[in-house]
Amino acid sequence: MSRDQRVNDNWALLWAQQEALIHHKGLLVVFCMIPDYPGATPRHYSFMRKGLRELQEKLNQCNIGFRLLEQSPEVILPQFLDTIDAHLLVSDFDPLRIKQQWKKMLIDRLKVPLHEVDTHNIVPAWIISDKKEYGAYTLRPKIKRVLDDYLTDIPAVQLHPFNWNNPPPEAPETYRGERVASQTTEAYPWIQAGEAAAHLAAVNFVQQRLATYTKARNNPCLDGQSGLSPYLHFGQLSPQRLAWMVSRSALPAETKDAFLEELVVRRELADNFCYYEPAYDRVAGFPDWARKTLDQHRNDQRAAVYSLAEFENGTTHEMLWNACQQDLVQSGKLHGFLRMYWAKKILEWTPDPETALEYAITLNDRYSLDGRDPNGYTGIAWSLGGVHDRAWRERAVFGKIRYMNEAGCRRKFDVAGYIDTVFNQG
Ligand SMILES: Cc1cc2nc3c(=O)[nH]c(=O)nc-3n(C[C@H](O)[C@H](O)[C@H](O)COP(=O)(O)OP(=O)(O)OC[C@H]3O[C@@H](n4cnc5c(N)ncnc54)[C@H](O)[C@@H]3O)c2cc1C
Repeated sequence: MSRDQRVNDNWALLWAQQEALIHHKGLLVVFCMIPDYPGATPRHYSFMRKGLRELQEKLNQCNIGFRLLEQSPEVILPQFLDTIDAHLLVSDFDPLRIKQQWKKMLIDRLKVPLHEVDTHNIVPAWIISDKKEYGAYTLRPKIKRVLDDYLTDIPAVQLHPFNWNNPPPEAPETYRGERVASQTTEAYPWIQAGEAAAHLAAVNFVQQRLATYTKARNNPCLDGQSGLSPYLHFGQLSPQRLAWMVSRSALPAETKDAFLEELVVRRELADNFCYYEPAYDRVAGFPDWARKTLDQHRNDQRAAVYSLAEFENGTTHEMLWNACQQDLVQSGKLHGFLRMYWAKKILEWTPDPETALEYAITLNDRYSLDGRDPNGYTGIAWSLGGVHDRAWRERAVFGKIRYMNEAGCRRKFDVAGYIDTVFNQG
């Protein structure tokens, strides 16, 4: 188990259980928690660890074992699987580079078969498309064609009838990852970690706030988005369960479609981009037209140029940008509309697109609870490099990349009110 850290609604776990039942074997979930995972900070470890504790209890109730290992899978698993005389390894799917590299190395070293199950996308990433898509307009029809077949209810995991008879693991407090998690006492009033809290938040959103999603989602002063992305990122909530709940609600089709466009089409488009574009976090991954236009404007005069520390500390000349950064640092999230503005200003106020991309990824990954996610790399590549977007009217620095500024934000929402909330009430 790696990307999908839940017991319920987890096709990888269900597949593993089915195999174990057929072969009359015990079932063990292994999670490799690396204390120095690239970009992860104590806030991420803490959120993840709380979820894993709950997960362990739930697995135990189902008579399924749980082991936390502290090395990357390709190093520890071959030997570990030998030790426990494993029959089969089942993994979930993640398109990000490090996970793909682990998997490749692991396959070379394994003596047992490895089955990979994509339980993060509703239609598995390699089935919906065998190539990098140009944009939502090319992926959407492919998803629509098969969605009814894949968007189903999900069976429950069973009480496992065969025991896993291995010695108990060392006490969780001794894990190094545990110590990283304990470096923070940060708590976020807007979100509680874990599968049970995730499910409750999803039910509440669908029952109480989905109805106003279309109208409210682009206004950062309203609680219009679902706020579910950290749960989806850590796999504490199944996207298929959420999409299933939404599709079965009695709300008008256009409301449900607006949310499913984000949850299914945009999210699965992000996985498609990271899976098929090896340079998903580099300028080389931008489309040709975007690289060309950014190159043509490489030497344009910038209104200001800031260092990473100045961005990180929120000390630019624009109060709205500083408020966004403060919001991100304080709460571990930034509203979706503001994320675009926040990233585009980094492009405007750095010496070149390469530096802008590096800073935006570093800050997003460091402070967003949902960071280090295909959605993040793709959202940043969209904002800075026109990925899945088209060319717009040419202007300084941006070239033909879509432009955003504070005046545009003022037309959309109460900018002064937002700044006040962040600095005085946040
Ligand atoms: C610069 C930038 C950085 C971003 N970084 C991240 C990130 O690190 N992690 C992350 O999960 N998302 C990221 N996004 C995408 C999007 O902004 C967030 O998914 C969304 O704001 C999360 O809040 P929510 O769950 O309340 O969204 P909702 O509007 O309630 O949407 C529900 C779900 O749909 C998916 N979704 C919504 N918008 C998008 C989108 N544009 N692209 C892909 N999936 C989407 C997410 O899984 C989200 O949780 C980024 C976007 C930009 C422009």
